[in-house]
Amino acid sequence: MQSEIIFSVVIPVYNEEENIAELYRRLAAVMEKLGSYEIIFVDDGSKDRSWELIKEFHKKDPRIRGISFSRNFGHHIAITAGLDHAKGEAVILMDGDLQDPPEEIPRLYEKFTEGYDIVYGIRKERKDKITKKITSFIFWYILRRFSGVDMPRSQTMLRILSRRMVNVLKDMREYARFIHGMMAWAGFDVASVEVEHSQRLKGKSKYNIPRMFKLAFHGVTSFSTVPLKLAIYIGLISSFISLIVGLYFIYRKLFYNIPVLGYASIIVSLFFIGGIQLLMLGIFGEYLGRTYQEVQRRPLYILKEYIF
Ligand code: UDP
Ligand code: MG
Repeated sequence: MQSEIIFSVVIPVYNEEENIAELYRRLAAVMEKLGSYEIIFVDDGSKDRSWELIKEFHKKDPRIRGISFSRNFGHHIAITAGLDHAKGEAVILMDGDLQDPPEEIPRLYEKFTEGYDIVYGIRKERKDKITKKITSFIFWYILRRFSGVDMPRSQTMLRILSRRMVNVLKDMREYARFIHGMMAWAGFDVASVEVEHSQRLKGKSKYNIPRMFKLAFHGVTSFSTVPLKLAIYIGLISSFISLIVGLYFIYRKLFYNIPVLGYASIIVSLFFIGGIQLLMLGIFGEYLGRTYQEVQRRPLYILKEYIF
């Protein structure tokens, strides 16, 4: 019945029962005009009625497809599952909370037809709560500073990927996933288009501060080993400083007979060095843990149900 699928739209969903009906309605209206399409909702272990709704959409329109996970595996893994199952020649990614307006897709697609492998949206103005803005700023600062991969800050998840790009992503099976970085790492031609950004239609952001930090850490550690080398630099610098300070005290003692005072200075430097050592050990541990996780080679996600 279905001709060749040109577009796949992949939408990760985690407790978005209040948003996906509206999203589906607006998205379908846009996609109808673009060409043949499928919409893949990936239910990331929602505890609300999201999955029931997705099944209802599918009954009415077989172009709506769904994958549901056995539990919550995380946003970027949900996107990965969608990419694994997408059949389209071009794959559109967007969030399930209507922060990315579906009406912007035709403009992204217009740019895409110029021959890019990724066209992503850049927010003109970010419509988020102030706390989200601040944490997001810190998140992107850490990433851009330490990951060594060039990623613009205000990019949205709303984007179009070529089949070529999707195939590259499908080959990257690392457990710690940071999709923006993985796409940038591939090195294909990238373009961006300014898009509107809206507030979340309903509900709260699923990213709390610990989750953002975890993602930032994944982002940094999967693309760079700079934090590991920090130990070398800090070690070199502190040895050098202590050498100078030591020589200075010896000089004062020999030439002016000033005794070295200082219980306080000993305690402070002891704690300082101890702190740095523990920090470095922590960073080493983080990389070791990451390596361990990757070596286990577990599947990235477990499917519970599948409607195609
Ligand atoms: N999401 C997901 N799994 C998670 C967290 C989020 O699939 O563990 C989905 C969520 O339903 C939404 C998208 O990822 O469609 C972006 O999440 P959210 O809007 O909470 O993030 P924010 O926009 O605040 O960065
Ligand atoms: Mg959101």
